Amino acid sequence: MEKPSGPSHTRSLVIGNPLSNWTIRTGPEGVTFPVAELDGGAAGPTWLFTAGVHGDEYEGPEAIRRAVAALAGTRFPGRVIAIPVANPMAYAAGVRCTPADGGNLNRSFPGDPRGSLTLRWADFLWTTFMSRADRLIDLHSGGTTWKFEPVGGFYRDEDLPLVAALGLTLWRAPAAKGVLSYEFRERRGRAIGAELGFGGGRDEAMAEKIGYALTMLARGQGTAFDRQAAGPVYVHHDVLTDANGEWTARCGLGQGVQVDQVLGEVHDWSGQLVGRVVSPFAGRVLSVRNLVSVRQGDLVAVIGRPT
Ligand SMILES: [Zn+2]
Repeated sequence: MEKPSGPSHTRSLVIGNPLSNWTIRTGPEGVTFPVAELDGGAAGPTWLFTAGVHGDEYEGPEAIRRAVAALAGTRFPGRVIAIPVANPMAYAAGVRCTPADGGNLNRSFPGDPRGSLTLRWADFLWTTFMSRADRLIDLHSGGTTWKFEPVGGFYRDEDLPLVAALGLTLWRAPAAKGVLSYEFRERRGRAIGAELGFGGGRDEAMAEKIGYALTMLARGQGTAFDRQAAGPVYVHHDVLTDANGEWTARCGLGQGVQVDQVLGEVHDWSGQLVGRVVSPFAGRVLSVRNLVSVRQGDLVAVIGRPT
Protein backbone atom coordinates (compact mmCIF):
# COMPACT_ATOMS: atom_id res chain seq x y z
CA MET A 1 0.00 0.00 0.00
CA GLU A 2 1.25 3.42 -0.90
CA LYS A 3 2.03 5.55 2.10
CA PRO A 4 -0.66 8.22 2.56
CA SER A 5 0.55 11.76 2.22
CA GLY A 6 -0.78 15.23 2.92
CA PRO A 7 -1.92 16.93 6.08
CA SER A 8 -4.77 14.53 6.82
CA HIS A 9 -2.36 11.60 7.21
CA THR A 10 -1.22 12.49 10.71
CA ARG A 11 -4.76 13.32 11.81
CA SER A 12 -6.51 10.12 10.74
CA LEU A 13 -6.99 7.54 13.46
CA VAL A 14 -8.01 4.59 11.40
CA ILE A 15 -6.65 3.18 8.18
CA GLY A 16 -8.68 0.26 6.92
CA ASN A 17 -11.98 -1.16 8.10
CA PRO A 18 -13.29 -0.37 11.57
CA LEU A 19 -14.15 -3.09 14.06
CA SER A 20 -17.78 -4.08 14.21
CA ASN A 21 -19.87 -1.77 16.45
CA TRP A 22 -17.75 1.17 15.33
CA THR A 23 -18.27 3.60 12.47
CA ILE A 24 -15.58 5.94 11.22
CA ARG A 25 -17.02 9.44 10.98
CA THR A 26 -15.49 12.44 9.24
CA GLY A 27 -15.44 15.90 10.78
CA PRO A 28 -14.13 19.31 9.66
CA GLU A 29 -11.05 19.25 7.39
CA GLY A 30 -11.58 15.57 6.67
CA VAL A 31 -10.44 14.45 10.13
CA THR A 32 -11.76 10.99 10.99
CA PHE A 33 -12.68 9.42 14.33
CA PRO A 34 -14.62 6.39 15.62
CA VAL A 35 -18.19 6.51 16.94
CA ALA A 36 -20.45 3.70 18.18
CA GLU A 37 -24.21 4.18 18.31
CA LEU A 38 -26.10 1.43 20.08
CA ASP A 39 -29.88 1.07 20.17
CA GLY A 40 -30.99 -0.85 23.24
CA GLY A 41 -34.34 -1.68 21.65
CA ALA A 42 -36.46 -0.27 24.50
CA ALA A 43 -37.60 3.18 25.57
CA GLY A 44 -35.09 5.15 27.62
CA PRO A 45 -32.57 7.97 27.69
CA THR A 46 -29.88 8.66 25.11
CA TRP A 47 -26.53 8.45 26.85
CA LEU A 48 -23.47 10.15 25.44
CA PHE A 49 -20.15 8.71 26.62
CA THR A 50 -17.16 10.86 25.63
CA ALA A 51 -13.41 10.65 26.23
CA GLY A 52 -10.34 11.98 24.49
CA VAL A 53 -11.56 15.58 24.55
CA HIS A 54 -7.93 16.02 25.58
CA GLY A 55 -5.54 13.90 23.53
CA ASP A 56 -3.24 12.65 26.30
CA GLU A 57 -5.79 11.04 28.62
CA TYR A 58 -6.17 7.29 28.23
CA GLU A 59 -8.42 5.65 30.84
CA GLY A 60 -11.61 7.10 29.33
CA PRO A 61 -11.21 5.72 25.80
CA GLU A 62 -10.56 2.23 27.17
CA ALA A 63 -13.53 2.43 29.55
CA ILE A 64 -15.79 3.40 26.64
CA ARG A 65 -14.47 0.60 24.42
CA ARG A 66 -15.23 -1.87 27.22
CA ALA A 67 -18.76 -0.52 27.72
CA VAL A 68 -19.52 -0.69 23.98
CA ALA A 69 -18.24 -4.27 23.81
CA ALA A 70 -20.46 -5.23 26.76
CA LEU A 71 -23.60 -3.46 25.52
CA ALA A 72 -23.48 -4.22 21.80
CA GLY A 73 -26.16 -6.66 20.76
CA THR A 74 -27.89 -6.59 24.15
CA ARG A 75 -31.24 -5.13 25.15
CA PHE A 76 -31.23 -2.03 27.37
CA PRO A 77 -33.48 1.00 27.85
CA GLY A 78 -32.52 3.76 25.43
CA ARG A 79 -29.51 4.46 23.30
CA VAL A 80 -25.77 4.98 23.71
CA ILE A 81 -23.60 7.27 21.61
CA ALA A 82 -19.94 6.49 22.35
CA ILE A 83 -17.08 8.76 21.28
CA PRO A 84 -13.79 7.53 22.79
CA VAL A 85 -11.57 10.00 20.92
CA ALA A 86 -13.41 13.32 20.78
CA ASN A 87 -10.34 15.31 19.70
CA PRO A 88 -8.60 13.00 17.18
CA MET A 89 -6.13 15.73 16.19
CA ALA A 90 -4.76 16.05 19.75
CA TYR A 91 -4.97 12.27 20.23
CA ALA A 92 -2.92 11.59 17.08
CA ALA A 93 -0.21 13.88 18.46
CA GLY A 94 -0.50 12.57 22.04
CA VAL A 95 -1.06 16.05 23.43
CA ARG A 96 -3.77 17.86 25.39
CA CYS A 97 -4.81 20.52 22.89
CA THR A 98 -5.38 20.72 19.12
CA PRO A 99 -1.90 21.03 17.54
CA ALA A 100 -2.98 23.22 14.61
CA ASP A 101 -4.32 26.11 16.68
CA GLY A 102 -3.45 25.26 20.31
CA GLY A 103 -7.14 25.20 21.13
CA ASN A 104 -8.45 23.49 24.27
CA LEU A 105 -11.53 21.59 23.07
CA ASN A 106 -12.83 21.50 26.63
CA ARG A 107 -13.12 25.29 26.68
CA SER A 108 -14.73 25.47 23.24
CA PHE A 109 -18.27 24.07 23.54
CA PRO A 110 -20.82 24.48 22.10
CA GLY A 111 -18.46 25.71 19.40
CA ASP A 112 -18.59 28.19 16.53
CA PRO A 113 -18.94 27.17 12.87
CA ARG A 114 -17.01 30.29 11.82
CA GLY A 115 -14.28 30.07 14.48
CA SER A 116 -10.89 28.40 14.79
CA LEU A 117 -10.46 24.72 13.92
CA THR A 118 -11.04 23.73 17.56
CA LEU A 119 -14.21 25.86 17.75
CA ARG A 120 -15.46 24.40 14.45
CA TRP A 121 -14.70 20.91 15.73
CA ALA A 122 -16.70 21.62 18.92
CA ASP A 123 -19.60 22.93 16.83
CA PHE A 124 -19.51 19.83 14.64
CA LEU A 125 -19.57 17.49 17.68
CA TRP A 126 -22.31 19.50 19.37
CA THR A 127 -24.66 19.66 16.39
CA THR A 128 -24.00 16.04 15.35
CA PHE A 129 -24.01 14.24 18.72
CA MET A 130 -24.60 16.37 21.84
CA SER A 131 -27.82 17.78 20.39
CA ARG A 132 -29.28 14.25 20.27
CA ALA A 133 -28.32 13.16 23.79
CA ASP A 134 -29.90 13.89 27.15
CA ARG A 135 -27.29 12.42 29.53
CA LEU A 136 -23.52 12.86 29.36
CA ILE A 137 -20.56 11.17 31.01
CA ASP A 138 -17.35 12.94 29.89
CA LEU A 139 -14.20 11.07 30.92
CA HIS A 140 -10.89 12.85 31.52
CA SER A 141 -7.58 12.18 33.27
CA GLY A 142 -4.77 14.38 34.49
CA GLY A 143 -2.84 13.76 31.28
CA THR A 144 0.88 14.38 31.31
CA THR A 145 0.57 17.75 33.05
CA TRP A 146 -1.27 16.91 36.28
CA LYS A 147 -1.87 14.09 38.70
CA PHE A 148 -5.54 13.91 39.59
CA GLU A 149 -7.27 11.96 42.30
CA PRO A 150 -10.11 10.02 40.65
CA VAL A 151 -13.04 12.41 41.04
CA GLY A 152 -16.45 12.85 39.50
CA GLY A 153 -17.32 16.46 38.83
CA PHE A 154 -20.97 17.51 39.04
CA TYR A 155 -22.84 20.84 38.88
CA ARG A 156 -26.25 20.02 40.36
CA ASP A 157 -27.14 17.86 43.35
CA GLU A 158 -29.51 15.69 41.33
CA ASP A 159 -26.48 14.41 39.38
CA LEU A 160 -24.71 13.08 42.50
CA PRO A 161 -26.00 9.52 41.85
CA LEU A 162 -24.11 9.49 38.54
CA VAL A 163 -20.84 10.28 40.33
CA ALA A 164 -21.57 7.68 43.00
CA ALA A 165 -22.35 5.11 40.28
CA LEU A 166 -18.80 5.55 39.00
CA GLY A 167 -17.44 5.09 42.54
CA LEU A 168 -15.54 8.38 42.47
CA THR A 169 -14.84 11.15 44.99
CA LEU A 170 -17.64 13.73 44.85
CA TRP A 171 -16.31 16.95 43.37
CA ARG A 172 -18.47 20.06 42.91
CA ALA A 173 -16.93 21.25 39.67
CA PRO A 174 -16.58 24.95 38.91
CA ALA A 175 -19.00 26.54 36.44
CA ALA A 176 -16.67 27.02 33.49
CA LYS A 177 -17.73 28.35 30.13
CA GLY A 178 -16.91 26.10 27.20
CA VAL A 179 -16.39 22.96 29.31
CA LEU A 180 -18.33 20.11 27.70
CA SER A 181 -20.00 18.74 30.85
CA TYR A 182 -20.92 22.23 32.08
CA GLU A 183 -22.38 23.39 28.77
CA PHE A 184 -24.25 20.10 28.34
CA ARG A 185 -25.70 20.46 31.84
CA GLU A 186 -26.87 23.98 31.06
CA ARG A 187 -28.42 23.10 27.69
CA ARG A 188 -29.27 19.40 27.49
CA GLY A 189 -29.58 17.45 30.75
CA ARG A 190 -27.78 15.41 33.37
CA ALA A 191 -24.01 15.54 32.98
CA ILE A 192 -20.83 14.82 34.89
CA GLY A 193 -17.14 15.05 34.06
CA ALA A 194 -14.70 12.56 35.60
CA GLU A 195 -10.94 12.62 36.20
CA LEU A 196 -9.64 9.05 36.19
CA GLY A 197 -5.87 8.91 36.23
CA PHE A 198 -2.68 10.72 35.43
CA GLY A 199 0.77 10.85 33.99
CA GLY A 200 -0.14 10.07 30.39
CA GLY A 201 -0.24 6.38 31.28
CA ARG A 202 -3.32 4.18 31.65
CA ASP A 203 -4.63 2.71 34.88
CA GLU A 204 -6.14 -0.53 33.55
CA ALA A 205 -8.04 -1.31 36.76
CA MET A 206 -9.65 2.13 36.62
CA ALA A 207 -10.58 1.67 32.95
CA GLU A 208 -12.21 -1.67 33.80
CA LYS A 209 -14.09 -0.22 36.79
CA ILE A 210 -15.45 2.72 34.80
CA GLY A 211 -16.26 0.57 31.76
CA TYR A 212 -18.37 -1.64 34.00
CA ALA A 213 -20.05 1.38 35.61
CA LEU A 214 -20.95 2.86 32.19
CA THR A 215 -22.43 -0.48 31.18
CA MET A 216 -24.57 -0.60 34.32
CA LEU A 217 -25.75 2.99 33.86
CA ALA A 218 -26.86 2.28 30.29
CA ARG A 219 -28.73 -0.76 31.58
CA GLY A 220 -30.59 1.48 34.03
CA GLN A 221 -28.81 0.01 37.05
CA GLY A 222 -26.22 1.21 39.50
CA THR A 223 -27.76 4.54 40.49
CA ALA A 224 -29.02 3.57 43.95
CA PHE A 225 -27.62 6.44 45.98
CA ASP A 226 -26.78 6.68 49.67
CA ARG A 227 -25.70 10.24 50.45
CA GLN A 228 -23.93 9.27 53.67
CA ALA A 229 -22.03 6.36 52.17
CA ALA A 230 -20.92 8.46 49.20
CA GLY A 231 -18.66 10.61 51.41
CA PRO A 232 -18.11 14.36 51.52
CA VAL A 233 -18.51 16.70 48.57
CA TYR A 234 -15.35 18.65 47.78
CA VAL A 235 -15.60 22.18 46.44
CA HIS A 236 -12.98 22.94 43.83
CA HIS A 237 -10.33 25.64 44.17
CA ASP A 238 -7.52 26.16 41.69
CA VAL A 239 -4.08 27.09 43.01
CA LEU A 240 -1.80 28.90 40.53
CA THR A 241 1.87 29.84 40.68
CA ASP A 242 3.25 33.32 40.06
CA ALA A 243 6.78 32.08 39.28
CA ASN A 244 8.55 30.66 36.22
CA GLY A 245 10.88 27.67 36.46
CA GLU A 246 10.84 24.09 37.69
CA TRP A 247 8.02 22.78 39.88
CA THR A 248 8.63 20.48 42.86
CA ALA A 249 5.51 19.21 44.65
CA ARG A 250 5.61 19.12 48.45
CA CYS A 251 2.21 17.44 48.78
CA GLY A 252 0.56 14.26 47.56
CA LEU A 253 -2.78 13.31 46.08
CA GLY A 254 -5.51 12.85 48.65
CA GLN A 255 -3.41 14.46 51.38
CA GLY A 256 -5.11 16.68 53.93
CA VAL A 257 -3.51 20.14 54.11
CA GLN A 258 -3.83 23.11 56.44
CA VAL A 259 -4.13 26.77 55.52
CA ASP A 260 -0.73 28.17 54.45
CA GLN A 261 0.81 24.68 54.26
CA VAL A 262 3.44 24.52 51.48
CA LEU A 263 2.10 22.66 48.43
CA GLY A 264 5.22 23.01 46.33
CA GLU A 265 8.16 25.14 45.26
CA VAL A 266 9.46 26.67 42.05
CA HIS A 267 13.21 26.88 41.39
CA ASP A 268 15.00 28.54 38.51
CA TRP A 269 17.58 26.88 36.23
CA SER A 270 20.33 27.40 38.81
CA GLY A 271 18.37 25.78 41.62
CA GLN A 272 17.54 29.07 43.32
CA LEU A 273 14.12 29.13 45.01
CA VAL A 274 11.95 31.64 43.16
CA GLY A 275 8.48 30.75 44.39
CA ARG A 276 6.64 28.87 47.11
CA VAL A 277 2.99 27.92 46.75
CA VAL A 278 0.85 27.52 49.86
CA SER A 279 -2.68 26.24 50.35
CA PRO A 280 -5.24 29.06 50.60
CA PHE A 281 -7.26 27.04 53.13
CA ALA A 282 -7.56 23.66 54.80
CA GLY A 283 -8.71 20.87 52.53
CA ARG A 284 -7.71 17.86 50.48
CA VAL A 285 -5.25 17.76 47.57
CA LEU A 286 -7.37 16.68 44.58
CA SER A 287 -4.73 17.47 41.96
CA VAL A 288 -1.06 18.35 41.87
CA ARG A 289 1.13 19.34 38.95
CA ASN A 290 3.15 16.50 37.39
CA LEU A 291 4.99 18.43 34.69
CA VAL A 292 8.16 20.05 36.05
CA SER A 293 8.15 23.00 33.65
CA VAL A 294 5.95 25.74 35.03
CA ARG A 295 5.12 29.31 34.03
CA GLN A 296 3.45 32.21 35.81
CA GLY A 297 -0.29 31.64 35.97
CA ASP A 298 -0.08 27.85 35.53
CA LEU A 299 -2.24 25.55 37.62
CA VAL A 300 -0.08 23.71 40.16
CA ALA A 301 -2.69 22.19 42.48
CA VAL A 302 -6.40 21.80 43.08
CA ILE A 303 -7.56 21.90 46.69
CA GLY A 304 -10.95 20.47 47.57
CA ARG A 305 -12.71 22.02 50.54
CA PRO A 306 -15.03 19.45 52.15
CA THR A 307 -18.67 20.46 52.63
ZN1 LIG B 1 -9.00 16.39 30.16
